[in-house]
Amino acid sequence: MPTTSIPARVRFAPSPTGHLHLGGARTALYDYLLAKQTGGQFILRIEDTDRKRLVPGAEEELMIGLRWLGLQWDEGPDIGGPYGPYRQSERKEIYQQYAKQLIDEGKAFYCFCTPDHLARVRTEQQKTKIIPHYDGTCRELDPDEALRRVKAGEPHVVRFKSPREGSITVKDALRGEITVENRTIDDYILVKSDGLALYHLAAMVDDHLMKITHVIRGSEWLPTLPLHSHIHRALGWQEPEWVHLSVFLKPTGKGKMSKREAADLIKDGHSIFVKDFDGLGYLPEAVVNWITLMGWSYDDHTEFFSLSDLVEKFTLTRLNPSPAAINFTKLDHFNGLHIRSLPVAEFSRRIKPFFEKADLKPDDETLINIAPIIQERVATLDEAPEIAGFFFRESVEPTAEDLIAKGLTMAQSADVARHSLSVLQRCQNVSPEAAEPPMRELVEELGLSAGQVFCILRSAVTGQKVSPPLFESMEIIGKEEVLKRLKRAIDLLDNAG
Ligand code: GLU
Repeated sequence: MPTTSIPARVRFAPSPTGHLHLGGARTALYDYLLAKQTGGQFILRIEDTDRKRLVPGAEEELMIGLRWLGLQWDEGPDIGGPYGPYRQSERKEIYQQYAKQLIDEGKAFYCFCTPDHLARVRTEQQKTKIIPHYDGTCRELDPDEALRRVKAGEPHVVRFKSPREGSITVKDALRGEITVENRTIDDYILVKSDGLALYHLAAMVDDHLMKITHVIRGSEWLPTLPLHSHIHRALGWQEPEWVHLSVFLKPTGKGKMSKREAADLIKDGHSIFVKDFDGLGYLPEAVVNWITLMGWSYDDHTEFFSLSDLVEKFTLTRLNPSPAAINFTKLDHFNGLHIRSLPVAEFSRRIKPFFEKADLKPDDETLINIAPIIQERVATLDEAPEIAGFFFRESVEPTAEDLIAKGLTMAQSADVARHSLSVLQRCQNVSPEAAEPPMRELVEELGLSAGQVFCILRSAVTGQKVSPPLFESMEIIGKEEVLKRLKRAIDLLDNAG
């Protein structure tokens, strides 16, 4: 059942202050799903009013990450749209206009308090164990007097005049109604001394003007939800539906991941940053599947979803507010499932860059031939060159030790290799159909185990102890090359002793 029958307008509103991480990606994903499901719009808005924290290149990285996940926005800073601009730094005058409206109506005020004064107040309040709040010095200044001081160029900020009496009841879609005493709400700064609006004002104004129906965001915004409701109401606006998502905990389930811990993950082939997943061999389909289920479920057993399944099945009502521990084992599991569900041609296209990164020159014809035999065997795409790089090497380099089968001497192993060579020479080709039966007969004749004989052959042909199925691999490599590699192995064994 869809969550809403009206087309939803939802926005992902990141601050370009660092890498796009799992939390942000999940928010964007839920935004996207709700928008697409209801025939609405998914909007990208860049919240860049905190100029000190801007990271060059972060906006581009965000866009690349969202596109990689398959979450294309309908309106945004790069493509425009009917409610632009979509970068908050380009909307300064709009916010000032609403700040002025609030001041004129006595719902916000100019504050001239110096940082010194504020610091002193805070220290006093901490001493007496009162929760630090603005002390109200400028709250009741005469408006004309305040305006005169502003015009005279005195440094100032604009603060919201939070009601002192009564309480406010706000509603979060996951947690229901929350009632808060108004006196506990601070007179938050809306516009800083440099004239730039802060999130509390800018995001509320934008959500209203951009006709946002659902605000889906991190639960770190729950404490200031009462303030945000007050701001909407003070401006006479209808509030959007508020949806605060669960937090992510580290894999142990104990606490949030620190920056340091996040950076260290890469050593184990993991990451919480979207930019890293591609290089680590994860499919965007798997990442989408994985993060969707960190805080949402369809029922108690279905776990494989494509993005289009999710567009159909997603519901706000099945979001879970409890914290979700990041589980990388689950990610590997989903990656395996999605790898196996790719069409062979698509899988071979996706593994190609990993061979190139390993300095190999994969040709498309061989790639498409090897794809079916490795698609079953990799958990991440970067494993492909590890198990199948030998298809693209001029020669493989097993050591003499690698060519000795368990329980056999070097000379006996050389003998087995010689017998194998003569069997394979007589085969029409080295496919499983043509070469496996006579090789199994050889195993019998020699009174050895298949493991012993095939281990020597495998090392000789692939240079590896573990490989995709041996005869399938040999067929792709071709009889001539297989015989050449086997002869080299025999030479190696003969000369090593
Ligand atoms: N810019 C805010 C952040 O990065 C966005 C919060 C919101 O979605 O409203 O956390």
